[in-house]
Amino acid sequence: MTEASPYVVLVTGPSAGVGKSTLATNLAVYLKALDEELPVAYASLEPDADVDAMFRLGKQPEYSLFDLQRNIPFVELFTLGQFGVEYCAAVNVGQQSETSQSLRKGLAQADFPGVLILDAAGDSPFLPAALAAVDLLLVPVKDPAALPEIVRLQKGLLAAAGERQQLWLLPSQLGAASRYQPSAALTEFLRFAAQERGFQVLEGQFSADSRVAELAVKFAKPVLTRVPQSALHQQLKQLAELLLDQRQRQTSFSVRVRRMLLDGLLPPRARRIALSCPLCKCPALSGEVHYLEAFPARRRMLLHRDCVTALLVGTAAAAFHGEPGLTLVQSGTLFGGGTGQLRLQVLAEDLELLNTEMVEVTETSVWHGLIQTATGRCLAEIYRELVVYSEPVAVSELLSDAWYRDFVARRGALRQACREEKI
Ligand SMILES: [Zn+2]
Repeated sequence: MTEASPYVVLVTGPSAGVGKSTLATNLAVYLKALDEELPVAYASLEPDADVDAMFRLGKQPEYSLFDLQRNIPFVELFTLGQFGVEYCAAVNVGQQSETSQSLRKGLAQADFPGVLILDAAGDSPFLPAALAAVDLLLVPVKDPAALPEIVRLQKGLLAAAGERQQLWLLPSQLGAASRYQPSAALTEFLRFAAQERGFQVLEGQFSADSRVAELAVKFAKPVLTRVPQSALHQQLKQLAELLLDQRQRQTSFSVRVRRMLLDGLLPPRARRIALSCPLCKCPALSGEVHYLEAFPARRRMLLHRDCVTALLVGTAAAAFHGEPGLTLVQSGTLFGGGTGQLRLQVLAEDLELLNTEMVEVTETSVWHGLIQTATGRCLAEIYRELVVYSEPVAVSELLSDAWYRDFVARRGALRQACREEKI
């Protein structure tokens, strides 16, 4: 689900003349230069903007991003352009967003595992739809007078189920001349505003440079190919690296889950389950996962199949991994072992006991983190806690009511057998 939908970056300027489109289009080019394998798409939400100047390679793209509403598949909206960037036509004046969530829903279901860069003015009618879908919001700022507009943007982001950490201010001297010139004072002001309002500010400042303006911006050509010796080249590279880092660390994952629940793209039961795998700390919303419950803490979580494969290396339980059934994990001390041991039992679908073993947990073992996250206690402290996990199942099936009813029945029988000390 989420891993195949685009990571959405919105570049929007609260006021004219901050070089917003220069930043947005160049960012797409730099991302591709940093990671050739990463699919990168660019969409302008500026009515009738000239997107061909930067990207056109062959025929002009026919659709704009908001043609998603007409059920045109996401990938068909885009045309391969220069520098390997996929781009679509700018929105046209007559187009409108159906609701502020319609773009988000369309993007959540798009099969595009890369980055989508959106370019929209601060007063664009498409801004609410873009804010509702955004993972990372980049706001170039030139003038302290823009602060009320930035505060409005932040409010719009929070109202769209977003979080403060998604917004970054980019001190910029690019674009048309401003009344406000002293750059050192701007940076100082932005740092002050950041402390006061909780804004994150990018280090450094996108500097205006006459060669950049003459050789690249004037012709809407990339800084990367036209002026690679400029300071702006390094700054754009840093910005692209920041973006890749935020995407890699999945800093907007909780926002995505909240929005998917709001949009009905996840079943309500997902609210009660931790959707990040405790073994690798990454989202577990695609592929096959194990469902884990711990008692008495009643914690519920998902584990990636591959992470469990790695966890079981060297155990006899590894031979049964993937078979339908439950695995029961308990403290070894209950069964005559030491505090550094866990007892692992593999049970078949009908709860027939397939294997029992004591596992020696070394100091560096990932079992420690798993036990801590599942039970709320460290390995040495657990005694009567039960940790049960299921066979690996596709996430969509696992979150269904039917699958959970079956799990609850099996879990009930297992706990009964434990109480009666049958296993
Ligand atoms: Zn994992």
